[in-house]
Amino acid sequence: MPYVITDACVDIMDRTCVDQCPVDCIQEGERMLYINPDDCIDCGACEPVCPQNAIYLAESLPAPLSGYVAINADFYTATDFGPATGGRLTVVDHPAVARLPRAVA
Ligand code: SF4
Repeated sequence: MPYVITDACVDIMDRTCVDQCPVDCIQEGERMLYINPDDCIDCGACEPVCPQNAIYLAESLPAPLSGYVAINADFYTATDFGPATGGRLTVVDHPAVARLPRAVA
């Protein structure tokens, strides 16, 4: 079971987790970071350093956040958004994340 980044990262993107990850499996979208479940080795190094408490072991996700397992995975495999587009498209975030309301400053 990989670790998963959830909505508390959206529009914050602290990025401390990226520096902690020993296998470089956390990439940036436009509004949040995503963990590649195929590369995550479940070391847990990212979870305690996130100031937003946005990172969970997939099997420990609170039920309302369960959709983030697929959101993280889809980011790496979808061909209509994310890195798998190879820059061919400018849509960066998972559609479910892109749709989230932005905080009013
Ligand atoms: Fe990277 Fe470890 Fe976090 Fe997986 S659990 S994303 S390998 S730091």
